[in-house]
Amino acid sequence: MRYVIAVVCCVVLACSSPAGQREGTMEPGATPPTRQSTMDTIAEQYVKLVLALGQHDADYVDAYYGPPEWRKAAESSKVDLPTIESNAAELGSTLAREAEPAGEMERLRLHYLQRQLSALSGRVRMLKGVRMSFDEESRALYDAVAPTLPESHFQEILDRLAKRFPGSGPLVGRYDAFRRAFVIPREKLDAVFQRAIQACRERTVQHMTLPADERFTDEYVTGKSWSGYNWYQGGYKSLIQVNTDLPIYIDRAIDLACHEGYPGHHVYNVLLEKHLVKDRGWIEFTVYPLFSPQSLIAEGTANFGIEVAFPGRDRVEFERTVLFPAAGLDASRAAEYYEVLAMVEQLAYAGNEAARRYIDGTIDAAEATSWLERYALMPRDRAAQRVRFFDQYRSYVINYNLGKDMARRYIESRGGTPDSPAKRWDEFEKLISSPRLPSDL
Ligand SMILES: [Zn+2]
Repeated sequence: MRYVIAVVCCVVLACSSPAGQREGTMEPGATPPTRQSTMDTIAEQYVKLVLALGQHDADYVDAYYGPPEWRKAAESSKVDLPTIESNAAELGSTLAREAEPAGEMERLRLHYLQRQLSALSGRVRMLKGVRMSFDEESRALYDAVAPTLPESHFQEILDRLAKRFPGSGPLVGRYDAFRRAFVIPREKLDAVFQRAIQACRERTVQHMTLPADERFTDEYVTGKSWSGYNWYQGGYKSLIQVNTDLPIYIDRAIDLACHEGYPGHHVYNVLLEKHLVKDRGWIEFTVYPLFSPQSLIAEGTANFGIEVAFPGRDRVEFERTVLFPAAGLDASRAAEYYEVLAMVEQLAYAGNEAARRYIDGTIDAAEATSWLERYALMPRDRAAQRVRFFDQYRSYVINYNLGKDMARRYIESRGGTPDSPAKRWDEFEKLISSPRLPSDL
């Protein structure tokens, strides 16, 4: 495991049972368990199953800050995949026998455990070699399927961009040449990133109360298939890593600071720990299995949170007056840059199409790279990095753009529109403080 384990000991430890022992049966004459204790027992078994599966899949356990001895037990017992699968099925049957709770949070908890458990079974099947299509996989793991869009959909957007960047040679080259003027010089990267984090945090704490001791540390790394990563460590602390393999454009400062930090992943994990683990004693939230429906909510809200914290012109103004000068870039071009990015943003789903074709085996890695260059306007090195991401994370890609659109639709349908910023923040906070899953949106 690449991250540090923090120590959060929960009251539900009182109902702990030896690792591997399944619950759901009752000794004759024993007192029937209360609903809460049944759910807590199930939750504990779920955490142990996630930890057990983590022994077979290095990327699976994204964060864990529950009892350290549970992880040690998973490491030493190294339960095999067929046993994990049958234990998950049995736990699923136990959950299915649970009556629908009256309270909304308890109901969400029950559905969360059911859906997370079924995703765990899906991941076990994949590790056992069962082949699923891209859409089957995303439904099994993330509780959602991304729309399929034809080349013509992207071509219309590209035709508009071609008018913006006239000339000969591939459009991606013309766009890349334009973008080169907006790279943050390496020696200014940390200063710019710190300013961005500070601004994202200020805006977030104006609208939500965070625990006083929350904080994160950041690190610059190389040799990764992702551009940034939040490793949540428990105790309201995160480690955020920024990958400097490729040039970092100025827009990435706010994107990364919001997405990985405030009000994105760091805040999401902090609020889950505060509201669900500490206040309610729901131990299942001390573990975060990456290949699960929780990731669509995590990535979707982290991306949508950028717009919540920096809506429209507000962002351009901040970039023009603060970040462009901090990066030594020409601030008079900030508005122009963000106009172009808004056009390119419409190509966001092109990455899903490339991944779908690649995972389904209709194109190979070289073709996927070319497809991304042409339809997602990614320069060759960035497209190649993206294909490495497909290799490692596969249908996970839908969580970013589909997740963002689902989070936006949900929050706006509840009145959190751009015209009602207070309500927007309020609905955003509620969504990231609850066990709501994609199919609940
Ligand atoms: Zn993310």
